[in-house]
Amino acid sequence: MISIITEGAPELWGHPLMYFFLFFTFAFGASLGSFTNVLIYRIPMDMSVVYPASACPACGHQIRWYENIPMISFLLLRARCSQCKTPISFQYPFLEFLAGIWSISLAYRELWPTFSQPELWVNDISVLLSASAMWLWLLIFTCALLAITLIDLRYTFVPDEISLNLMWLSFGAFFIPTQVPVDHFFGLLAGYGTILGIRGLGYLLYRREAMGLGDAKLLAMIGGFLGWRVLPWILFAAAVQGIIAAALALGYTKLTGRSNLLTMTSAELDERFGEEGLYEEQRVLLVMPFGPFLCIAAFEVLALTPEVLFQYLSLIH
Ligand SMILES: [Zn+2]
Repeated sequence: MISIITEGAPELWGHPLMYFFLFFTFAFGASLGSFTNVLIYRIPMDMSVVYPASACPACGHQIRWYENIPMISFLLLRARCSQCKTPISFQYPFLEFLAGIWSISLAYRELWPTFSQPELWVNDISVLLSASAMWLWLLIFTCALLAITLIDLRYTFVPDEISLNLMWLSFGAFFIPTQVPVDHFFGLLAGYGTILGIRGLGYLLYRREAMGLGDAKLLAMIGGFLGWRVLPWILFAAAVQGIIAAALALGYTKLTGRSNLLTMTSAELDERFGEEGLYEEQRVLLVMPFGPFLCIAAFEVLALTPEVLFQYLSLIH
């Protein structure tokens, strides 16, 4: 993934297109964040993500279009269903807001340098389309990372519905002129192959499944979008951050006796997997999906400034 060079782009503040740019990219990102909420809620329940229209999970009240405007509806409804007054989770407006802000910053890097200089694209709209495609492509990728992170943390699986579809979408690199398609295609293969290799090693050394195929599809998707060059960094960063998180989570549980996102008590394990007494001898077990850490590391690559990224790329060229 190599960003469009931002050098020489006009200042955002005070530019005549500033308000349009900010409003459009924020609203678009927030709407995509809203759809991400739908994925997070519906995929683990095996529901279609497009049909039927959203309804209140408590009373079945069908959510009307004006009750479904990112963030605004949450405030107008005062965080409650209009019918049965069941509270609506803060996760909804929070993710919408995050996606909106991230959309602006991504667009500022990928789209603004082109969009702010109409003389660049007024005679050749394909220049603007290509910059917009890059922004949209990476924005969808980030929302997928967000959805996978939350689903994997809560249910410990990486949904194929997201990773496989995004693997297809990573071929978008072939249609974005600033990208080197072969880097992305090789990234997809290398991502899948790396996890398969770790899996094989786990079988050989410990006779157990070290990593699931869900993680292989996830790293394939990440390699497809970001290219093969950043894969070693992503694996390294994910491992280091995973170890730190595991140590903190175990420490917290040992000190307080309470479980958290990454740990479970034996009673909770029995309840989750429905097997009485199977985990009796283990007082606390680390339930650590690797997917969220791969996603966080991939996001860090995206969020680093291009300058930092270029320095890293020149190291391994
Ligand atoms: Zn309701």
